[in-house]
Amino acid sequence: MIKVCAIASGSNGNCYYIGTEKEAILVDAGISRRQVMKRMKELRLDISKVKAVFISHEHSDHIKGLRVLCDMHDIDAYLTRDTLQKAHRNYHPKTAHVFTAGDSVKVGAFTIHSFSKQHDAIDPTSFRVEVEGQNIGVMTDIGLACDNTKQHLSQCNIVFLESNYDEQLLEEGPYPYYLKQRVKSDHGHLSNKQAVELVEQVENPKLKTIFLSHISADNNRVDIAMKAFEHLANQYNILPTNRYAPSEILCVGEEQLVLFSQ
Ligand SMILES: [Zn+2]
Ligand SMILES: [Zn+2]
Repeated sequence: MIKVCAIASGSNGNCYYIGTEKEAILVDAGISRRQVMKRMKELRLDISKVKAVFISHEHSDHIKGLRVLCDMHDIDAYLTRDTLQKAHRNYHPKTAHVFTAGDSVKVGAFTIHSFSKQHDAIDPTSFRVEVEGQNIGVMTDIGLACDNTKQHLSQCNIVFLESNYDEQLLEEGPYPYYLKQRVKSDHGHLSNKQAVELVEQVENPKLKTIFLSHISADNNRVDIAMKAFEHLANQYNILPTNRYAPSEILCVGEEQLVLFSQ
């Protein structure tokens, strides 16, 4: 049995949990250690099981809790050399393992496949985590659904997929012109519409659950993102994530996915 959830998701912090009965990994540590601890406690998840944190890129909403979390709990940090160099020194843990985008790294029962993505960071990567026969994708902060993204999504059973903005809300919203252009660009974020198109295009029958992730506070709303995916809800479990609280936990057993209500 594995458990999967978003401890936090959005532009003020990202942290995704994938765990077996014995051990766990996190992808990104973009909230404080205190917040990670508080939210894991609410979810009845045990920090001592966490063996590693994989970092997708150096933007602070993905890395700002890394140093304290890793140093205090003896957790191994994994990131690319360029990401480590570019990251603010305050975020550097005592020890860091370096990987190259495209590497597959083994941590206990987990195999973490990394791959490059398009985003305005130095060396951004997404991940597909393989454990107990399941493949869980963590694919946020992508300007464009590149071939890597499509290829790995086609192997996923579960995915945290960016559904960052609604085109109209972004257009009419408070962001200055240059920031609107940045969000929309091929190195910015994926809109609700682009996320839907990606899922439709890849058409993966193994994919069961989609966590709508990194939903913008200013340029999107959970109900709007959910609505964009409404026509796919008979095919997939569509679950929202939230910036202020953890998502529901998805428990994955032998055959099917079962939702665990808090
Ligand atoms: Zn981000
Ligand atoms: Zn980013």
